Amino acid sequence: MQTLYNGKAKTLFAGPSPDTIIIFFKDTVTAGNGVKHATIPGKGALTAQISIKLFEMLKDSVPSHYIKKLDAQSFLAKKLQILPLEVVVRNYATGSIVKRLGLPRGQAFQPPLVEFFYKSDALHDPLLCLAHIQALGLATPHELAQMETYARHTNALLTDYFWALGLKLIDMKLEFGKTPDGTLLLADELSPDTMRLWDARTHESFDKDVFREDKGDLLTAYREVARRMGL
Ligand code: 5GP
Repeated sequence: MQTLYNGKAKTLFAGPSPDTIIIFFKDTVTAGNGVKHATIPGKGALTAQISIKLFEMLKDSVPSHYIKKLDAQSFLAKKLQILPLEVVVRNYATGSIVKRLGLPRGQAFQPPLVEFFYKSDALHDPLLCLAHIQALGLATPHELAQMETYARHTNALLTDYFWALGLKLIDMKLEFGKTPDGTLLLADELSPDTMRLWDARTHESFDKDVFREDKGDLLTAYREVARRMGL
């Protein structure tokens, strides 16, 4: 298979047709812009299976790149031109917003907060305001509005889904891309690598913060998410 891109947690291979790609979830995990890294056998299958189930759930509600499951560690997706933006939706304050604005950890955002970050390892993914996005030509006003709508819709659906499993969706990072005809689609992955999930009662983390903050065994946390999802 032809490798198109070898990322930190996923490898993209050419798909069976020119407009498709195969997304393979690796057993690697990184944090702090790659400074902290590890290989955890079994992690790729968990993030792949969780992503596949969530994309399938969203299928009729949010247009995405997901086409079908291929095997335990990969799915087929539409090939897109990825926008260099990370769209973060926050339901509760933690992580970078607590450091940046000094908010109390766990403070609720109602309505949820939608932020845009510049996807740039060299610049450490800086927060962008709308004027920056326009000045840098990173997305059109229409694309921004569409991304915000899709992000809020995805957040509402996943919040309800996880709540029923005894998990609070704290925040998540979404990525979007465009097909050659300009159609905007939700891209990347939907997994505990890219979202924060806390136990609804104890507020224990079941996401990549376990690795980022050395809070325990990452595989055990991801297995618990998968178990509650019926995987
Ligand atoms: P924060 O801005 O608080 O660091 O992250 C907000 C949410 O987006 C968290 O769920 C976090 O996991 C996710 N996120 C933000 N940036 C990245 C990134 O570069 N990689 C990954 N995997 N997740 C990110």
